Amino acid sequence: MAATIQVNKTKVKQPPLDIHTLGDRVLRQPAKRVAKVDDELRVLVKEMLQTMYSADGIGLAAPQVAINKQLIVVDVDPENAAAPPLVLVNPKILRVSKELAVGQEGCLSIPGVFLDVVRPAAIEVSFKDENGRPQKIQAADLLARCILHEMDHLTGVLFVDRVDNSLALNQELKKNGFFAKDVQPVKS
Ligand code: ZN
Repeated sequence: MAATIQVNKTKVKQPPLDIHTLGDRVLRQPAKRVAKVDDELRVLVKEMLQTMYSADGIGLAAPQVAINKQLIVVDVDPENAAAPPLVLVNPKILRVSKELAVGQEGCLSIPGVFLDVVRPAAIEVSFKDENGRPQKIQAADLLARCILHEMDHLTGVLFVDRVDNSLALNQELKKNGFFAKDVQPVKS
């Protein structure tokens, strides 16, 4: 049995990976399926987790660190050292609830910008874990929102593309040094 990935939920002085920000083209490229979950991928997972915790994030997708792979890491309980993070390789949405929920989101690739986004309240997702084993998860509330946000990154979609309130969006972007022209609205 493969060992699980051990990462301290603490900040490291020099995060191993650079997080790319809104306007950078790498964020808009669709990610490729991971063919094999191997040690090389697990090293990347570890570096992504260290980078995420160092930036006070609760999720990170490989395209944010310019890696064109269908890989996301999620931890909605970063203060709890005993709760392991979720690693989702090639995640696929099996089901979404009809019920929608509004919640505020932010993104390590758009620092400082926090806005409401409407998403399904609950989801079921299949994926492979860090050991290549097929898994399924049912998630609701913040976990569902976080997984959907990170999965959007795998198709080059950013949460600002899903914000309905364009006035608030433009204000927040401007305030934080980003440009409205870099938003690509999604019609859901
Ligand atoms: Zn994000």
